[in-house]
Amino acid sequence: MNGIIRYLKSLLLSEMRQGMAVTGRHLFARKVTQQYPEDKTPLSNRFRGLHALRRYPNGEERCIACKLCEAVCPALAITIESEQRADGTRRTTRYDIDLTKCIFCGYCEESCPVDSIVETHIFEYHGEERGDLYMTKEKLLAVGDKYEAQIAAARKQDAAYR
Ligand code: SF4
Ligand code: SF4
Repeated sequence: MNGIIRYLKSLLLSEMRQGMAVTGRHLFARKVTQQYPEDKTPLSNRFRGLHALRRYPNGEERCIACKLCEAVCPALAITIESEQRADGTRRTTRYDIDLTKCIFCGYCEESCPVDSIVETHIFEYHGEERGDLYMTKEKLLAVGDKYEAQIAAARKQDAAYR
């Protein structure tokens, strides 16, 4: 009996009709596919992306080389060296983050007393060699300089949520 039913189903192309019905149902339905990178999906304000070192409006580096971020980093991804300047202030001579070690936990950002090291909303970056993801102080300051307006706006919004 089952054999006859299967034969009749194949004769009447019923499985193909069912398949075509599914295709037809989705043909005119609202599309949910995002055409990335032209279309961006919403990003959480708490998203933690590429790191940046910030400056004050007068151009002075915010970082005071307290090394709290280096101490708190669970991945040991941060390396800092510092010296005292002629005016008695302390600044870093080296500030590196190895992004191949970083787990983007955000502890460095949380620990910083002067809002210097931050994680931006930038996620569209890549490295073609291992060294490309080794962020030196110069690279981190350059990111901070370029995206300061965006960083400041995100920090303000973040503070409003707290
Ligand atoms: S985000 Fe976390 S793992 Fe990455 S550098 Fe900062 S503290 Fe270290
Ligand atoms: S980035 Fe912030 S926490 Fe890290 S050494 Fe500089 S001032 Fe200290």
